[in-house]
Amino acid sequence: MKRICVFCGSNFGNKPDYELAAIAMGQELARRGLSLVYGGGKVGLMGAIADATLAAGGEVIGVIPEFLRLKELDHAHLTELHIVGSMHERKAKMAELADGFIAMPGGFGTFEEWFEVLTWSQLGMHSKPIGLLNTAAYYAELTGFIARAIGDGFVGERESRLLQVADTPAALLDLLACQPGQPGGEWSRS
Ligand code: AMP
Repeated sequence: MKRICVFCGSNFGNKPDYELAAIAMGQELARRGLSLVYGGGKVGLMGAIADATLAAGGEVIGVIPEFLRLKELDHAHLTELHIVGSMHERKAKMAELADGFIAMPGGFGTFEEWFEVLTWSQLGMHSKPIGLLNTAAYYAELTGFIARAIGDGFVGERESRLLQVADTPAALLDLLACQPGQPGGEWSRS
């Protein structure tokens, strides 16, 4: 793995843990020599992780649609900034550039982006590792709901193994490093 795409909030959230986790993730990526791929903005946790990665000597690649440059304030000091035409192009570019994906705490945009790469993995469209950073138990209800979906027969046991969950950036990156290739492919309804 060389580049990790991190989806995270364009807000900071209302607990200091979230910004601290974004800073810790940026530092941990840089320490491991992993480049950050993200949405290219300066706002919220997105800006915090980019700043922390750069400050620790890491590389940061941003991908932002033209129409969001004012709203999400494209970061002026990135290693690379790709300006694209739409949200779909942004997600496709981030997916193409990254060797693995992580969602940190965030809102609807974060959920949407992360679930898309998860479903693409389920469909065998890629086999890159996928992680969920459960800072301050932010995703406790989501992991509980996923367990419910497995229990109720909407998500298979095999598909549920496509995602890794950990409480700290270091633990999550260790899990992703151990799972460079996921089963992928051959998805079918049973
Ligand atoms: P949020 O988690 O809602 O704060 O958003 C985090 C990032 O996701 C921001 O860069 C948003 O522009 C982006 N985003 C919001 N909605 C979508 C969407 N439908 N598809 C892809 N990215 C999105």
